[in-house]
Amino acid sequence: MRKVLIIGAGGVGTVVAHKIAQNPDVFNEVMMASRTKSKCDVIAAEVKKRYNFNIQTAQVDADNVEELVKLFNEFQPVLVINVALPYQDLTIMDACLEAKVNYLDTANYEPKDEAKFEYSWQWAYHDKFKKAGLTAILGCGFDPGVTSIFTAYAAKHHFDEIHYLDIVDCNAGDHGKPFATNFNPEINIREVTQKGKYWENGKWVETEPHAIHKPLNYPDIGAKESYLIYHEELESLVKNFPTIKRARFWMTFSEEYLTHLRVIQNIGMARIDEVEYNGCKIIPIQFLKAVLPDPGDLGSNYKGKTSIGCRIKGFKNGNVKTYYIYNNCSHEEAYKETGTQAVSYTTGVPAMIGAMMFLTGEWSQAGVFNVEQFNPDPFMKELNKQGLPWKELHDVDLEL
Ligand code: NDP
Repeated sequence: MRKVLIIGAGGVGTVVAHKIAQNPDVFNEVMMASRTKSKCDVIAAEVKKRYNFNIQTAQVDADNVEELVKLFNEFQPVLVINVALPYQDLTIMDACLEAKVNYLDTANYEPKDEAKFEYSWQWAYHDKFKKAGLTAILGCGFDPGVTSIFTAYAAKHHFDEIHYLDIVDCNAGDHGKPFATNFNPEINIREVTQKGKYWENGKWVETEPHAIHKPLNYPDIGAKESYLIYHEELESLVKNFPTIKRARFWMTFSEEYLTHLRVIQNIGMARIDEVEYNGCKIIPIQFLKAVLPDPGDLGSNYKGKTSIGCRIKGFKNGNVKTYYIYNNCSHEEAYKETGTQAVSYTTGVPAMIGAMMFLTGEWSQAGVFNVEQFNPDPFMKELNKQGLPWKELHDVDLEL
């Protein structure tokens, strides 16, 4: 039985649908459900036109466990691919337990009323999933996701001990707009405006937002100013690879982007609490989302590429070793193939591959797992086949 249910019909959901349709030998019955059914219908119609592949559609409020359970019982999927928002992770996991369905997501749970994300809430479901004989695969996008699998692959094949891990995420694309976010603006702005944080010598070190930065060279792109920010995969990677002495995450931002962010914060538009406006209550960051460009519409004019990878230093056979593994993804190519830009593409392709790993029995232990806990090899092979080829550089200057 290879029935899967995709929840969420945004940029990432679009890519998941296209990639599933490109692999009909693995996926044979698919439904896409989201808050707004018409968005699922548009995606399903495009997929039908391009690949002659059927996707059923449905409306669901993923904040509501009862509604989810009803849908799961009717459609009876073996796996749910959650590409809605991080706010829905726990309700979808609860419904999976009730209806006995396996689970996969790309971002860890975040409460709506607090800009804080961590794995503790979802890790707490481990025993329940284990007891039910169900698998939950957490963080199966690019970062978290591929970066975590790159680390697992490096640990398995190239290092006896990893000591230093720097994840580097560069978007050298240009969408031609003065300000836009590449994925859901609310989630994106909450992520990049928080304090920086990295792991060093057994503890977390906190920094002011964007306080640490330096230019880093990205392959086929060149030097880009890169800022140390906190990112969710650091939490699980330092737990699963305890030899790591220092783990950091770097993301490139343009001066223009950071100026807009500062203004948005200074004028209170990044607030996540309710304010009274003309007799109704609004949450400023949600209002801002409504007036910003839709990330899904950026694709048609997006030029350039993303470059995301892991720069690792450690020991192999008693010698110091450095290693850089990365993928570059073109916004234009991603748009040609799926109608979305590279940020959605680099998230949706790994989500589909994770589902494929589960359905083909490669990743199937019962319990709640981060992707680096599974065998990286079959996943790495599929990345090369499914549009996200990777390159390795050995014994190079990591610049960090
Ligand atoms: P979008 O905002 O484009 O899409 C989200 C979708 O979820 C929309 O279709 C939305 O419905 C739907 N949705 C929201 N709330 C509910 C609800 N209560 N019930 C049902 N459906 C709901 O987001 P993206 O596609 O850009 O991102 C999807 C996920 O991917 C996010 O969790 C994001 O954090 C994650 N991500 C992960 C990355 C990684 O590398 N790991 C990178 C980028 C994103 P509606 O259309 O009605 O609003």
